Amino acid sequence: MNKKVRVRFAPSPTGGLHLGGVRTVLFNYLFAKKHGGDFILRIEDTDQTRFVPGAEEYIFQTLEWCGLIPDESPKHGGPYAPYRQSERKDMYRQYAEQLIKAGYAYYAFDTPEELEAMRSDFKTAENPSPQYNQFIREKMRNSLTLGEDEVTRLISEGMPYVIRIKMPAGETVSFTDMIRGEVSFQTDQVDDKVLLKADGMPTYHLAVVVDDYLMKISHAFRGEEWLPSAPVHILLWKYLGWEKDMPEWAHLPLILKPDGNGKLSKRDGDRLGFPVFAMDWTDPKTNEKTIGFRERGFLPEAFVNLLAMLGWNDGTDQEIFTMTELIEKFSMDRVHKGGAKFDYEKAKWYNHEWIKQSTAIDLAPFVQQTFATNNIQITEPSFLHKVIDLVKERCTLLSDFTAQSSFFFQSPTEIDIDAIKPKWDDKKNLFFTELIRAYELSSLWEASDLEKEFKELAAANQLKPGELMLPFRIMLVGGKFGPGVFDIAALIGKTETVARIKHTLGLVG
Ligand code: GLU
Repeated sequence: MNKKVRVRFAPSPTGGLHLGGVRTVLFNYLFAKKHGGDFILRIEDTDQTRFVPGAEEYIFQTLEWCGLIPDESPKHGGPYAPYRQSERKDMYRQYAEQLIKAGYAYYAFDTPEELEAMRSDFKTAENPSPQYNQFIREKMRNSLTLGEDEVTRLISEGMPYVIRIKMPAGETVSFTDMIRGEVSFQTDQVDDKVLLKADGMPTYHLAVVVDDYLMKISHAFRGEEWLPSAPVHILLWKYLGWEKDMPEWAHLPLILKPDGNGKLSKRDGDRLGFPVFAMDWTDPKTNEKTIGFRERGFLPEAFVNLLAMLGWNDGTDQEIFTMTELIEKFSMDRVHKGGAKFDYEKAKWYNHEWIKQSTAIDLAPFVQQTFATNNIQITEPSFLHKVIDLVKERCTLLSDFTAQSSFFFQSPTEIDIDAIKPKWDDKKNLFFTELIRAYELSSLWEASDLEKEFKELAAANQLKPGELMLPFRIMLVGGKFGPGVFDIAALIGKTETVARIKHTLGLVG
């Protein structure tokens, strides 16, 4: 690569960030880091009607949570600031005017009513939604159909206008996509897109090209849904005289619904009960709250890992990758062309694997957070670390830590007596009464000591330890779950163990 690698994620801040959006960030980031390049976050907010308060901050927080920190952005600054398109408004007009002068664009004065009339007047069975294109433009009010004086007069009188690209007739626009290979479009199929709007703001098409040029973007990676816009962008690069600086393109495959039928949407998540957004998002207009992967209990490392595997692999069977490994192994030519089906069970599998392989110290802040929302008080960090080590194998989501370990911090609020009662008898009662004694007198409190005493006492009472384990577990935990009983007893300590046995004996007796 001879150019310095500079890639960008260019979201329009209109709501929560879909996992496909975060995957676009990730692939940009990995490519930049692999090639010692820069990763830029540019906010594409030129459509003022779609402005959503809080959406930009949400993007920053998501990137921070995932550890995908931009080198340049509206927040981090950089040599090509500003990075928010609304703040670059004045830069775009000159390029639109330059295109008009060169004959590649034109002023269009059509009113909304005239455009509406065009859509109904030109509607036919073959063409149910006519577009402003090379066949229709001749019948509209624009600088191609009106005389020069008329155009000057309209502009000087303040008549609102837009600037449109003049799509050429009968041409083929081709480019090599890094994922798809050669892609071609017929210009006859593409309408004369608006480049500059009546409010003076550029549209996405103009702004994206101007900014990618001015910000020296070397590679433009974006979702497949932008592929139809590519011919317009490629022509603009050419018409503005920047063709030799044009970035290389890659259009990333869609993330599909679990059944593979179409693009995964937020509504699929609502319907099937899994998150689609990275983090919780509350729509400021409707107050509707959508759950995110973070709040559902995903580790950022797992989220990043599962996103990487949606449409990419390194050619081996390896599925668990750290960020460092991803940076080292990522390559665009191993990204698949076809859409990647989203499988929530598999997503949870990644999280489980990451929880298992993370250290207690790494997990502690996340666990503390889930505990805080459930009012579980943590007294000592070292105690918390021991608990995490004991239960992490059993936790698929971070939120599972609450159910799997709250009994370490507080006595169980409910005891599943019904699981003990049917097989309860005097012999067992005697055994546990003696166990209380034995444990009270015990000077050693390691799991292995407790187990030894327990088994010796069982043998002395001619009972099988197997029959006694379940009642003991229920006494300590409240139900039929949790790690090894002696590990639990060792950790909660003598006083608490004895108190819990006594409490259940009182209930069962
Ligand atoms: N603003 C577009 C978006 O919202 C960016 C597309 C591109 O990267 O060119 O995704």
